[in-house]
Amino acid sequence: MLNEIEILLKVQEKDLKIMALESRLKENPEIVNKARNMLKDAENELKEKENLHKKLQVERKNSEIQVESNNEKIAKLDSQAGSVKDNKTYKAIQDEILNLKARISLIEDTMLENMEKCDEISSQAKDLKEKTAQRKKELEEAETKAQKENQDIEKEIRDLKDLKSEIEKNLGPEILSRYYRLLNNKKDAVVVPSRNGSCGGCFMSLTPQSIMKLRSEMEIVTCESCQRILYWES
Ligand SMILES: [Zn+2]
Repeated sequence: MLNEIEILLKVQEKDLKIMALESRLKENPEIVNKARNMLKDAENELKEKENLHKKLQVERKNSEIQVESNNEKIAKLDSQAGSVKDNKTYKAIQDEILNLKARISLIEDTMLENMEKCDEISSQAKDLKEKTAQRKKELEEAETKAQKENQDIEKEIRDLKDLKSEIEKNLGPEILSRYYRLLNNKKDAVVVPSRNGSCGGCFMSLTPQSIMKLRSEMEIVTCESCQRILYWES
């Protein structure tokens, strides 16, 4: 194997590792974001329940006031009825009292329903509070884990880059720049073996001349289809 190819393969091995590590660096913030969104969802759900609970309490308070005012009206009518002399007016007052009592009864039914709903929502809110606390804990754990992992990955990348620049000292600038152009373009292996007369990168057939040059291992040969740098794998 050509000496340059051997060195390039070592550089490429480091670069592929660095690329894989860099994509893991990007995954961690995504995991943290997901945990953050899940917490936000739980918090919103909880807020909604709490608002609904408040609304129901206000409604109940209003119902209480209505019952109270209707009872006051009934008491007033009752005392009026005591001093009324004619039957017609007396009956009208009694009808009005019955009317008010029926209204109170309806309001009390609503209040009962309201109380049951309040109890249900309280219990749902309690579950949601636990869920929110759990999600908060999960987010904190994800953040800590991501931070630690990314620190480790960054260190690994720095070490690989140091190693790489040592190895690269043994290569000419021209072949290096050709290698990096290809790597930036393909984001994948660019120094590949020929296999069964084809390029190991794009799998297109190589010309007999290319194969002959490859076998002789005298010069750098590139694939005519994808421009990757080829080497002869015996
Ligand atoms: Zn190719």
